[in-house]
Amino acid sequence: MELPKTADVVIIGGGVMGASAAYHLAQRGMKNISLLEKEQFFGQGATGRCAGGVRYQFSTPINVRLSQASLPMLERFKEEIGQDINYRQCGYILIATTEKDVQAFKHNVELQNSLGVGTKWLSAEEVRARLPLMCFDDAHAGTFHEKDGLVDPNSVVMGYISAAQRMGVNALTGIEVTGLAVESGKIQAVITPLGSIQTRIVINAAGPWSGQIAEMAGVSLPVVPIRRQMFTTSPLPELPVDFPFVIDFAQSLYFHREGEGLLIGMSNPNERPGYDQRVDEAFELVNLEAASARLPMLEKAGLASHWAGLYEVTPDAHPIYGITPVDGFYVVTGFSGHGFMHGPVSGKLLAELILDGSFRTVDVSALDLARFGEGRLIQEYNVV
Ligand SMILES: Cc1cc2nc3c(=O)[nH]c(=O)nc-3n(C[C@H](O)[C@H](O)[C@H](O)COP(=O)(O)OP(=O)(O)OC[C@H]3O[C@@H](n4cnc5c(N)ncnc54)[C@H](O)[C@@H]3O)c2cc1C
Repeated sequence: MELPKTADVVIIGGGVMGASAAYHLAQRGMKNISLLEKEQFFGQGATGRCAGGVRYQFSTPINVRLSQASLPMLERFKEEIGQDINYRQCGYILIATTEKDVQAFKHNVELQNSLGVGTKWLSAEEVRARLPLMCFDDAHAGTFHEKDGLVDPNSVVMGYISAAQRMGVNALTGIEVTGLAVESGKIQAVITPLGSIQTRIVINAAGPWSGQIAEMAGVSLPVVPIRRQMFTTSPLPELPVDFPFVIDFAQSLYFHREGEGLLIGMSNPNERPGYDQRVDEAFELVNLEAASARLPMLEKAGLASHWAGLYEVTPDAHPIYGITPVDGFYVVTGFSGHGFMHGPVSGKLLAELILDGSFRTVDVSALDLARFGEGRLIQEYNVV
């Protein structure tokens, strides 16, 4: 494989962020774009391992606005990009089992409603009535938004990559970036075992590995990889077709339909940062027990598959967009467990910053790298 000698922009990482950035830059007319992915296929990192959930239910205005811009892009995806992504609007139910969560959810629903998102408040009885197969005797309340749902992650990545390739983007797999050349505070080249690409602009879209890439440029990025895992069950014929995405918020335990069965995940609060992507079988048992207590029919179900992936986590659970202290070195990372759904708009925002000099679709200038040094953190409550 011939590596280009020069590029107007090199994007590192072929997950949803890199793919969306490549598509949006090319669509805006930028030429000579290279996208480098270290794996043999695109979308094998966090994106391909994610739960595919897309939602409007967030606790900060900026995250709600990112969803308001990004989810309609997913709704129009087939029309615009030419790829079916299987968007199912099954709705998300977030269930509060503590008084603290009730108070936080009240605030969140008010915020979402004020921004035009029609999230509904559910009483404890309404939660139980909507989920007759589940045990939520301890529910205090819940929230439901019917336009939240599920999308197929690999179709989104491949849709963007194929459309970008049709516009001339060099999207290459099996190429690991091993270094970045920086001179006088400016990015000069991307180094790989197959040679270097001279370039003035690099986008770090390496997700959980973005901290490693930043280090190559001498930039410190507060993004840590945290393992998260899930499993799918054998078919559960009793499950209604319109079973929603259910989140038992206090336990970070979630369920959604996957084919004829369910996909079930739970976040381990004691997980230490690291790159291990093997399933932690001891924690899988904890997850299975918690899930069976909520959905007793699981005792009859078999395990169909299981896997783990890495969240790319920042100290305030918000992403990092834009410039860094190295001229020409941009980042789009740190989505802390909910980046797949914000991938479409995030690639578009990077294209706007690079080509227009500012973010236009959503003002994410507050989500810059400098906020960590300046103490401008914005906490997100709805992290699962
Ligand atoms: C278990 C799990 C469940 C999740 N569920 C959801 C969900 O329901 N909804 C949601 O919105 N989000 C979810 N997320 C989060 C979401 O998956 C991520 O926020 C999003 O996919 C990040 O995309 P990305 O492109 O930044 O990273 P990635 O998809 O990881 O892409 C980065 C790419 O960079 C490549 N790379 C790394 N280093 C190099 C290098 N040196 N050279 C070249 N290439 C390199 C990697 O191989 C990788 O393909 C979940 C994540 C996990 C792990």
